[in-house]
Amino acid sequence: MLTVNSINCGIVIDHITAGNGIKIFEKLKLDEVNFPVVLLINVPSSKLGKKDIIKIENKIDVDITMLGLIDPEITVNIIENDKIVKKMNTVIPKEVQGLFKCKNPRCVSNFDEYVTPKFRLVKANGKIHYRCNYCEELTSYSI
Ligand SMILES: [Zn+2]
Repeated sequence: MLTVNSINCGIVIDHITAGNGIKIFEKLKLDEVNFPVVLLINVPSSKLGKKDIIKIENKIDVDITMLGLIDPEITVNIIENDKIVKKMNTVIPKEVQGLFKCKNPRCVSNFDEYVTPKFRLVKANGKIHYRCNYCEELTSYSI
């Protein structure tokens, strides 16, 4: 079994669906940082079968909403003095403003720069979609 030294102070992003770890790694620009970061992939998990884990040896701000949109299963643990001091679950926002664009090319939010894209949450076929407030088009967030 692979072991990685536990971190003294920092963040562990856990329960990442296998395959999403590298996407989150890139989204958080962890390849550009100067502190230790570990990406573990295909770790056996009783809950998910296989999971990815990211360990960050630094306190950085992670956008829990953005993480939830990528992968709602994620939990974020804040570590201080070798102990988990805070556990956070992702939230799926009911309304989103400006995080992504409407996929309808004729939508007013895509050609009027003064219109901020706004969406409201809908669930269809077990997947998370957002319905545009302007044109009613369904858009799913992907990275
Ligand atoms: Zn739209």
